[in-house]
Amino acid sequence: NLVPIGRALISVSDKSGLLDLARALAAQGVELISTGGTSGMLRTAGLTVRDVSDVTGFPEMMDGRVKTLHPNVHGALLALRDDDEHLLAMAAHGIEPIDLLIVNLYPFEETVAKGADHDTCIENIDIGGPAMIRAASKNHRFVTVVTDPADYAGLIDQMKAHDGATTLAFRQKLALAAYARTAAYDTAVAGWLSGELKQPFTRSKSFGGVLAQGLRYGENPHQAAAFYTDGSKREGVATAKQWQGKELSYNNINDTDAAFELVAEFAGAGPACAIIKHANPCGVGKAATLKEAYLRAYACDQTSAFGGIVALNQPLDAETAEEIVKIFTEVVIAPGASDEAKAIFAAKKNLRLLTTKGLPDPAEKSLAFKQVAGGFLVQDRDTDSITAADLKVVTKRAPTEAELADLMFAWKVAKHVKSNAIVYVKDGATVGVGAGQMSRIDSTRIAARKAGDMADVLSLPQSPTIGSVVASDAFFPFADGLLAAAEAGATAIIQPGGSMRDDEVIAAADAAGLAMVFTDQRHFRH
Ligand code: 5GP
Repeated sequence: NLVPIGRALISVSDKSGLLDLARALAAQGVELISTGGTSGMLRTAGLTVRDVSDVTGFPEMMDGRVKTLHPNVHGALLALRDDDEHLLAMAAHGIEPIDLLIVNLYPFEETVAKGADHDTCIENIDIGGPAMIRAASKNHRFVTVVTDPADYAGLIDQMKAHDGATTLAFRQKLALAAYARTAAYDTAVAGWLSGELKQPFTRSKSFGGVLAQGLRYGENPHQAAAFYTDGSKREGVATAKQWQGKELSYNNINDTDAAFELVAEFAGAGPACAIIKHANPCGVGKAATLKEAYLRAYACDQTSAFGGIVALNQPLDAETAEEIVKIFTEVVIAPGASDEAKAIFAAKKNLRLLTTKGLPDPAEKSLAFKQVAGGFLVQDRDTDSITAADLKVVTKRAPTEAELADLMFAWKVAKHVKSNAIVYVKDGATVGVGAGQMSRIDSTRIAARKAGDMADVLSLPQSPTIGSVVASDAFFPFADGLLAAAEAGATAIIQPGGSMRDDEVIAAADAAGLAMVFTDQRHFRH
């Protein structure tokens, strides 16, 4: 997979590092071809360079709009070196192969950032550069393409290490960077033009992703919206097959995603079910059967579960379907469904059933985006998880085995609850969830109050928080939240630790006879 480099085309707007690179290439015996400005600079420095106009047989024209757009350039970049017809075509038309392309584009983004007028911005849309980059990247089996001066040194190292050639792995890496560059470039052009024309491009075919579905509206009826897939094929709402019911709405897709990602945390841990409302779980349960898991999730907060989204970590079976249809549910998503279960759902025309081929992997690396005025934030998805061995017992009393199992369960759920998140769990099911509050103590109290409300609805003799365990997505900054949990009847706590008042919090836990473990890992979610 080594391809030697005999001929290079260099056409760069950002000329930093150019001379060192060209000298190193010339020293390796590489023939250099360049466009006007680039070749002028190389020649002044005493390098031998061929003008691209010599290769195309055309002068550079129309203010540089047409310089390299010619079969002698694009054929030279695109020809497959192991295809007889391609080789014949090259010979017939006098096309000489180009093995290395060094291009960086007209500084469109910088021109816009400087506040240039419309015409100047238009003139700074590079056409030939992206065309060559895309051609060379497509043919990376044979052609090396460098789009960033930061990669020049690596290129020279690579050629020195391989006798003037590059490896396929190296060319692949550069091709990926090259496509990312042209994608970003055209996105910048589209973004600028959208601003110039005062027209949003939310419905464009490609928007950092591929348009999967235009939506009737967004979070609210006055907001236009669409659903894009990112090409990752990650199992979930994007890959699911919908068996029945109306088209999914923006909020349905958002909630279904939250539900499925949560239940995927319990892959291989026996049947589990999560019910989601407004992106937060209002019940999560696991049990020996899927039906029981659903019923336990439902029992956590029957009031909120109405009109919710149900996610299962195993294929939907008939007995679970029988239970689900008893109340109004918007969407059910599962990694499959039996024919019997589908038949039961068929009677409920408005209930949407989605099935996937599997569960997403919670540990799979990918990026998460969040828009802010004037830009957006990018971060890794929260893929971290812990095992019982990672826990540090900080109280005099260590959790019992049963408490430990519930603590681990609660911690997994808390990761999927909006901060400040407090989750009460008993016997493998949530019994109280406090989500999205601005203070941790409020979340603690709300979760306990809701659990008390459910005890009334279900005529339980006492609140289900009595004898429960509690997970907190971030540390308790004061002892008050922990004391509120103890007051509600919790016996064990899982939290990251790391507060400057940890000592106070641990002392309060000891005084209340609680067992507490630290995870040394936070799960904020906003
Ligand atoms: P130079 O300074 O060498 O004259 O021009 C280099 C720039 O021209 C590079 O940024 C390259 O992407 C761009 N370029 C190369 N070929 C063409 C073309 O055919 N049309 C346009 N618009 N730009 C080109």
